Amino acid sequence: MDNIKLVSRATKERTIIEVGELKIGQKFILIAGPCSIESEEQMLKTAYAVKQAGANILRGGAFKPRTSPYAFQGLGLKGLKILEKIGKETGLPVVTEVLDTRDVSWVCEYVDILQIGARNMQNFSLLKEVGKTNKPVLLKRGMYSTLAEWLNCAEYILNEGNPNVILCERGIRTFETYTRNTLDLSAVPAIKELSHLPIIVDPTHSTGKVSLIPPMSLAAVVAGADGLIIEVHHNPAEALSDKDQALRPEEFAVLAQQVMNLKKYMEDLA
Ligand code: PEP
Ligand code: MN
Repeated sequence: MDNIKLVSRATKERTIIEVGELKIGQKFILIAGPCSIESEEQMLKTAYAVKQAGANILRGGAFKPRTSPYAFQGLGLKGLKILEKIGKETGLPVVTEVLDTRDVSWVCEYVDILQIGARNMQNFSLLKEVGKTNKPVLLKRGMYSTLAEWLNCAEYILNEGNPNVILCERGIRTFETYTRNTLDLSAVPAIKELSHLPIIVDPTHSTGKVSLIPPMSLAAVVAGADGLIIEVHHNPAEALSDKDQALRPEEFAVLAQQVMNLKKYMEDLA
């Protein structure tokens, strides 16, 4: 593959990213939490439930990239303060999306991992900015992007001096409309051939459907993903964003157990 250097598998076998006690890329991770941070009560309910179920990182958006300017845009600073507080209370590291270069440095004060969303994958100024921080970056695949384009975006981050990039396959746009996107699971083993960076799968945004999240999560484990990121809401019907694709905590708990059992089965086989 042309142009990629620092992220290429030719340079290194694999990258292991330490976040607290976690070693991403070495041990499977489960990231869970709501699409958006809505209130302290919501985060508290969700965080304890997902932790109990086995999640090891808490997610929640404070800046939401919404299709409509009239849709809920996120709580911003207020949301980050909630996320930080609940993360500390539960002992879970936290991840949130940054949308704007102007926010990168101060958002770093509140979170453990910065997320670059699909819509900003090729926002090169933003990539350079997060590349200058010392926070791990969760880089989602753009919905119209090839693997080469995606890896070049990771290259931008590493080129600024930040080696800690976690790739996330979150589905791409195809002619299919039944699912929100089409989960490209072949990206997982393909990225493993091409790069040393860890890759996780987002079965939530890729399918957009609660019923499809469990089977695709298990398929991602079999494909060799280093983790999953799953949206969970204590009351999906009232979620302020992505309510059709949020698992209830009880559903997440069942899935998390299946994922861990499957992971263990695969390790025993190997
Ligand atoms: C999200 O994780 O809430 C999100 C907006 O995801 P994506 O950028 O993959 O659409
Ligand atoms: Mn979402």
